Amino acid sequence: MKKLTILTTPHPILRKIAKEVPTDHIAKYRDWIEMLSETMYRDNGIGIAAPQVGESIRIIIIAQAEKPLTLINPVIIKSSEATELGEEGCLSVPGIFGLVRRSKKIKVSALNQNGKKLRFDASHLFARVILHEIDHLNGILFIDKLERETRGDKVLL
Ligand code: ZN
Repeated sequence: MKKLTILTTPHPILRKIAKEVPTDHIAKYRDWIEMLSETMYRDNGIGIAAPQVGESIRIIIIAQAEKPLTLINPVIIKSSEATELGEEGCLSVPGIFGLVRRSKKIKVSALNQNGKKLRFDASHLFARVILHEIDHLNGILFIDKLERETRGDKVLL
């Protein structure tokens, strides 16, 4: 299957607000979503957002044990006041890693790749990946929020 190319900063698409995917267009993205997920695994990412491969649309994928989780038009409907620092890196920002403060717990609503409505709670690393990827949909990169640069474990989002 064809793989997609990851754009890196300062590509302007990474700074754009991505567009919502109309519900009746979801089916036509099926193969492309498959490619996006393969691209994430190829580059050892644990999450990826559509703008990272040049599509300014609101689709993100989170790596999971069994199969990747696709979230279309994801919205954070609740986020905890309690925060935690965690290490992040980004496929679009090669070579930089650092600590970012994010909510410990969030509640998310989104559509899956079949257009089915999802609503679920996420915490810790799972919440962090979702928040990092949703930031991509809003033109925000983790380096905008970096509290400290690190050289530890490499988490690529
Ligand atoms: Zn990223």
